[in-house]
Amino acid sequence: YRKTIIAGNWKMNKTATETRIYADQMKTLLPKAKWCEIVLCVSFVNIPTAAKSFKDTRLSVGAQNLHYAPEGAYTGEVSASMLKDAGTKYVIVGHSERRAQFGETDLMVNKKARAAVDAGLYPIICVGETEEQRELGLTAELVSLQVRAALAGISADKLRRVVIAYEPVWAIGTGNTATSAQAGEICNEIRATIRHLYGARIARSVTILYGGSMNPENAYELLSQPDIDGGLVGNASLSASDFTAIINAAN
Ligand code: 13P
Repeated sequence: YRKTIIAGNWKMNKTATETRIYADQMKTLLPKAKWCEIVLCVSFVNIPTAAKSFKDTRLSVGAQNLHYAPEGAYTGEVSASMLKDAGTKYVIVGHSERRAQFGETDLMVNKKARAAVDAGLYPIICVGETEEQRELGLTAELVSLQVRAALAGISADKLRRVVIAYEPVWAIGTGNTATSAQAGEICNEIRATIRHLYGARIARSVTILYGGSMNPENAYELLSQPDIDGGLVGNASLSASDFTAIINAAN
């Protein structure tokens, strides 16, 4: 069937020291049962520390961005193979903060997603509408377009590695969560888009996450939606106990 994934996105938070403390807290907090995959997407400089200190926990390491070129003259950038070699399994691609603040286009998101799967990483591709787009009634169409653009040129066998995260921009860091029905409807739309592109069997196997002010109080209801297979958690992942509570809600 498909994996449940609870992924934390630390964004530009936590030093290496704080990463080690968090790992120690998780060692005592994390439930033993393995009903879902748990990922923490940390800053580039924290990847080696996270890889080392999460080693004997169930946490996998993720990055928050990558460059699409395999190597070369791209000052300040990090390639997929560098991430993989440093112990990264997942990488967030096309987060709305990168689209809005760092000029990432659908084309760049596609190139990055392809570079990630080609290097053996699992991209978590983010899509989602702004408040204005939602008010104009464009959500379903826009999100479907973002998914199509991001997946262009990715073959069916490589789609096994792809995770999609639906993150409505107006719900990120605002405390305004989408209702479980709103989020479930768009995640269903995303699965329908994948079905059109790759067929029903593959569409059933792709993990789709919801992100945007997910917290221990609302996680259970969001995760109960049939097409929501996990969460991409910002603020609440910064606290080991809140993040654990969300992991427990995924049971
Ligand atoms: P918040 O959970 O802080 O709203 O952030 C969501 C997010 O952007 C995860 O990538």
